[in-house]
Amino acid sequence: MNITVIGTGYVGLVTGTCFSDMGNKVYCVDIIEEKIEDLKKGIIPIYENDLEEMVVKNYKNGNLLFTTNLEEGIKNSNICFIAVGTPMAKDRSADLTAIYKIAKNLGEIIDHDMIVVTKSTVPVGTGDKIKEIIAEEFKKLNKPWQVHVVSNPEFLKEGTAVADSMRPDRVVIGSDDEKTIEILKELYYPFVKNHDRFIIMDIRSAEMSKYASNAMLATRISFMNEMAMICEKTGADVNKVRLGVGSDSRIGYSFLYAGCGYGGSCFPKDVQALIKVSENYNYTPKILKEVENINYEMKKILFEKIKKYFLETKGLKDLKGLKIAIWGLSFKPGTDDMRESTSVVLIKELISSGVYINSYDPKAVNEAKKILNDQLYKEKISYFNDKYEATEDCDGLVLVTEWNEFRSPDFKILENNLKNKVIFDGRNQYNNDLLKNLGFKYYQIGVLEDF
Ligand code: NAD
Repeated sequence: MNITVIGTGYVGLVTGTCFSDMGNKVYCVDIIEEKIEDLKKGIIPIYENDLEEMVVKNYKNGNLLFTTNLEEGIKNSNICFIAVGTPMAKDRSADLTAIYKIAKNLGEIIDHDMIVVTKSTVPVGTGDKIKEIIAEEFKKLNKPWQVHVVSNPEFLKEGTAVADSMRPDRVVIGSDDEKTIEILKELYYPFVKNHDRFIIMDIRSAEMSKYASNAMLATRISFMNEMAMICEKTGADVNKVRLGVGSDSRIGYSFLYAGCGYGGSCFPKDVQALIKVSENYNYTPKILKEVENINYEMKKILFEKIKKYFLETKGLKDLKGLKIAIWGLSFKPGTDDMRESTSVVLIKELISSGVYINSYDPKAVNEAKKILNDQLYKEKISYFNDKYEATEDCDGLVLVTEWNEFRSPDFKILENNLKNKVIFDGRNQYNNDLLKNLGFKYYQIGVLEDF
């Protein structure tokens, strides 16, 4: 099939590349010229496992094309995927400016029957609005073509985006047109042929399915973090509680990890957008608001623990002049994405308290530099290429992102490098007893504190 994918971010680039890998001809369109020029040279703007080699292979064999010219893609394809960002607006709703602009452009450009698929995460009713905008343009320009608007929300996870797209758990198709559904099933068949996991529904339910999924996952995290806070007070260990809870087949283990808060480009903005949509329909969501409140508090918890340790245990009067090593900057392992990352909240709090930061992340340093680009941060953060070097002469180590390479570090090196044998672990990666035996002060989330 010939396909256009609008937006070459985490979703658009991965989706377009995977479609091209199955033999489709895909036009990937973006408004950022530099990005498109880089992609043509094989320079990939994001980090995702296996993505680079797939992009290069399919660009070379002509299945994957990159352009800033939407018209070029649309004229040559029958299906168009919208995969642009829907970031949080000032009022915390989903900002749909790019989506509606594209709908208008499509109305102007389309010159044959077309299927327009929304892959971006958009609030209920957006598909109807896209239809309306295209129909308005068609009316103005007297166009006879049939356009079917479909909702096909994306469920890939950053860090495993290519693998998720090649073998999705499910493909949700929101459409009321039989022929359109059949065409999309044909397109997706190679990805799901072993399990045939198509879920067909109306557009509004498909749009809502994405928000409900992310809200559910965020709720599990905040729920477990609430349990963690209760564990810390009562002397239970949330790591053990997780095993006791997750072993129930009705519950399962996934997304039950206590930690220093969720981040990323999806959970925070999608939970907020769902709250906003509900309020627009005069419903006040109670659980969702608390999910967000708890997460906001969890992002500050590492700073609170660090402060408590240095003030109460070490007897300092403030944190000024300390140097802290931070392992992990991205919002989760496997990605360079820094959006809404807990590391940013922590770094800002530490620097405001006069702390110097030595940081290490295997992939996210460039993104971190873009986000932490104020002069104050530039002066106080050093970025290292080696995780152990980053700890040299530091007053303590904080683990924020659980990259594999942090899981079994050489604690002897840490002992030699750190001025205080203290680790603040935002992702509960280490064995409490082992660290205690090695003489470390070890602070996790959801375990009784020993200050
Ligand atoms: P992104 O910010 O990484 O990429 C968006 C891209 O769209 C950018 O390259 C931008 O330049 C481009 N763009 C913006 N306006 C454009 C226009 N008018 N024409 C062409 N290109 C344009 O975003 P993302 O993370 O890929 O997310 C895209 C959508 O998918 C969002 O709605 C998001 O919520 C949803 N989603 C994201 C993920 C994820 O893990 N990132 C997962 C599932 C769903």
